[in-house]
Amino acid sequence: MQPPKNNYTIATPGTSNDHIAESSGKTFKKVALPIILVLYAFAIKAQMVDNYLESIRNNKAALTAFFSLMPKGGDLHNHLTGSIYTETYIDYVVDNDYYINTKTLEVADKPGNSIDWQLFSTLRKAGQLDAYKQKLIQIWSVKDYNGVSYPSDKLFFETFPLFGVASNKTIEQGLLELKNRAKAEHVNYIETMTGTAGDDAAKLPAGNLDDELEDAEDKKDTALTFRILDTIYNAIIQPLKPVAAANNKYISDMHYRLGLDDADFTIRYQFAFVRVIAPTLVFRKMVLSFEAVSTDTSKLLGGVNILAPENNDISMRDYWLHMQMFRYCRNKTQYKNVKCSLHAGELVLGMVKPEELTWHINDAVHVAGANRIGHGVDMPYEHDCYDLLKYMAANKIAIEINLYSNQFILKVQDDRHPITLYKQFNVPITISTDDAGVLRSNLIEQYVLLASRYKNIAYKDIKQFVYNSIEYSFIPDEKVKGRIKTQLDSQFAAFERKIQEIVK
Ligand SMILES: [Zn+2]
Repeated sequence: MQPPKNNYTIATPGTSNDHIAESSGKTFKKVALPIILVLYAFAIKAQMVDNYLESIRNNKAALTAFFSLMPKGGDLHNHLTGSIYTETYIDYVVDNDYYINTKTLEVADKPGNSIDWQLFSTLRKAGQLDAYKQKLIQIWSVKDYNGVSYPSDKLFFETFPLFGVASNKTIEQGLLELKNRAKAEHVNYIETMTGTAGDDAAKLPAGNLDDELEDAEDKKDTALTFRILDTIYNAIIQPLKPVAAANNKYISDMHYRLGLDDADFTIRYQFAFVRVIAPTLVFRKMVLSFEAVSTDTSKLLGGVNILAPENNDISMRDYWLHMQMFRYCRNKTQYKNVKCSLHAGELVLGMVKPEELTWHINDAVHVAGANRIGHGVDMPYEHDCYDLLKYMAANKIAIEINLYSNQFILKVQDDRHPITLYKQFNVPITISTDDAGVLRSNLIEQYVLLASRYKNIAYKDIKQFVYNSIEYSFIPDEKVKGRIKTQLDSQFAAFERKIQEIVK
C-alpha cells in the first residue's frame, strides 16, 4: 500500500488499525502539534497582557500608554465637524482674515453693522490676537469649562453653529487631520457622519403637510402617516435623484483626490441629518440620504443617521414620527440594503419626563429597524429593558458607547452608565468618540475610561470590542472588512509581543 502522499489521513478499506494509528500520530506531530503550540503561545501571551492590564487598572497614565499602542480598530460614532480640533477652525478664520465681533465673539467673513467688528489682522497688530483665539477656543469647544457656569449640554451643542463659519470650508483639511491622527493613535478605521447638500430643488406637494403629519403623529396613526409620506415621497423623489448623485460624486471625488485610504487606514461615510427641523424637511433629508446611499457605486457610503439634541422640543415631539419615517424608507425595496445607525436614548433622568426615557431605543430598534444604536444611555429605563437587550443581542444590533461624551453632556459615568448591562446581555459593544474635537478627547481616552471604570471588562473583552468595530461597521465592501480584520490580527500580535517584552 502506498503511504499517504499528504498529511491527511483518510481511512481506506483494508487499512489496518495500527497503520491508521501510526499515520494519525505522524499527522498529529506534523500538523496539529505545531498549531496547538502556536495557539498555546498566543494564549500565554494574551494571558500576560491580561495580567499586565490588571496590574495597571488604577493608573491612568499607564493605561494611556497601553491603549495608545493597542490597535483600536474603528471609530464608528464620529461626527466629522465635531471631530476636527477647534485650532484648525480658528487658524482658518485668522489666516483668511475674517472679522470677529469683539463683544459677542461672532466670526464672519464680512463685518456686521456695529463698530465692534474687527479684522483678525487688526487684533494681531494691537497685540490682542492670542487673547481672542483663547476666547474662541472656549466657546468653539469645551476647553477650560469649569463644570458649573453654564449647562454642559448647551455649551456642547452650541459650539457647532459657532464654528460653522469655518467648518464648511475646512472639510478636506479636516479629513486629512482625522486620518493622520487616527494613524498616529493606532486607529484603523473611521466611519464619519457628514451632511448632504444642495437639496433646494426638491419640491413639496401643495397643502400644509407638516400640520397633517403632526395630526397623524398625535393620533399615532401609522397608516395615515404612511399615506402622507407616500404623497411627499412621490413628489420629491425625481428632483432628489440628481442631488443624491451629486452628493455621491462630491464624496467620492474628494475621497480619492485626498488619497484618504491607504494600507493602514480606511474611512467611510454616513449621511446624517438633524431632527430639530419641520417634519417634511426631516423626511426630505432622510429620503435624499437613503437615495444617495442606495445608489452609491463607489462603496464609500456606509449608511444613514439622525442627530441633534434628543431632548430638544422638536426632537421629543417628533421622535415617534421620525421612527415611522425610517420604517417607511426601510420598507422600500430599493432601500432595503441601506444601513442605519440611530442616535437613541441619549437621555437621562431629570433631562426629560421619566416616561420619555422608556421608548426611544425601543422604537429605534423595533420601528425604525436600526442596525446600530448610538449612545443608548437610557437603556435601564426602557420598557421591557431585558427583552430589548436580548433582542439587540439576538439580532446583532450593536451599541456605540461614547463614554466621555456621555460624561460631559449627560453627566453619566461609572455604574450609572449601562455599558455593563449591554455586556451582560451580550449586545455587541463598540467604543467610539462622538465629537473628539469639541470634547478635546480621543479614542485612546475612551479605552482608558473603559478599563479604569469597569474592572470586570477584561482584556479579551476589550479586544472583542475592537474587532466588533470592524465587524459591525457599515463598510459596504466585505473584502475591505476582511483586510482590516487581518491587519488587526498582525497588529495585535505585535502589540502583545511588545507588552510581553516590557513585562519580562
Ligand atoms: Zn453623536
